Amino acid sequence: MAKMLEVNDLHVNFSTYGGTVKAVRGIGFDLHEGETLAIVGESGCGKSVTANAIMQLIPDPPGKIAGGTITFNGRELTAVREKDMRSIRGVDISMIFQDPMTALNPTLTIGSQLTEGLKEHYQTSTAEAKTKALEMMQLVGIPNPEERFRQYPHQFSGGMRQRMVIAIALICEPELLIADEPTTALDVTIQAQILELFERIQASTGVAIILITHDLGVVAKIADRIIVMYAGKMVEEGTRDEIFYESEHPYTKGLLKSVPRLDNQTQLIPIDGTPPDLFAPPKGCPFTARCPMAMVVCDNVYPPSSHLSDTHSVDCWLQDERAERLMAQTADKT
Ligand code: SF4
Ligand code: MG
Repeated sequence: MAKMLEVNDLHVNFSTYGGTVKAVRGIGFDLHEGETLAIVGESGCGKSVTANAIMQLIPDPPGKIAGGTITFNGRELTAVREKDMRSIRGVDISMIFQDPMTALNPTLTIGSQLTEGLKEHYQTSTAEAKTKALEMMQLVGIPNPEERFRQYPHQFSGGMRQRMVIAIALICEPELLIADEPTTALDVTIQAQILELFERIQASTGVAIILITHDLGVVAKIADRIIVMYAGKMVEEGTRDEIFYESEHPYTKGLLKSVPRLDNQTQLIPIDGTPPDLFAPPKGCPFTARCPMAMVVCDNVYPPSSHLSDTHSVDCWLQDERAERLMAQTADKT
């Protein structure tokens, strides 16, 4: 599959009265046509900031893309003017957010919100836009689309509202859909239905999806590849199987232990401690303070990326060829 998106050495900062927050600190990844990529990590790790940077929605000021490139279908998005970006957003790249209530306008009918994008970007006639909208409502599983078309958001349940948000995001047939915690506000059964809906939509439209979540369990079924972020860095990247069965980063392993299992066989083990302050990120591995395996070197030097396969890489000193010597050094000092 062809490469659609390439993020390279991306840095995003926010200026505050307290100083500069380095929210994203040099991350890079590719996305191919029709692929589902999950970006996983705790709140504040930089995953939403990364999504907003791709959409060119970082509020400047106080935010700023401080370095790196974001190339979408050969176009450098960081250099695109806001006026041109408006014809990319919602058309080539769509984004949906956590709370379906704030994403919908309570004063407009579902039908007018659904057809707005088509009319604005393609000058579609009202009749044609309605036909397309009804098809889209069918695709996302809204019963009685004809009747629902005339209704307002408050007449929909939470799950139905999120389906509508997804329909609005897809109506202009984007190549890329970015979903930021799309199921977090929903209960577990509805969550599973929405995830199934993503799979179904992808099979029928071929849209590529970036799914952002704090919950590895959410992506277990649908992600092709997974990126784990911590303190503004990408600490591990791999295929779904590499992350679920062969993860090597102590943070990823900790996240996996905190994923609830359906059979309730394992106890949930949350990771102790909190992420570092991104006003002054540590010069070494940001996970040092919470890592059960931390060595002396971890505190002082950021670990190099180790490539465990063509698709699997991890930033951890334990995977470095010098690991044994480094562990011995640590043992000497303790
Ligand atoms: Fe733990 Fe060190 Fe690996 Fe960081 S580099 S995850 S502190 S062992
Ligand atoms: Mg977020």
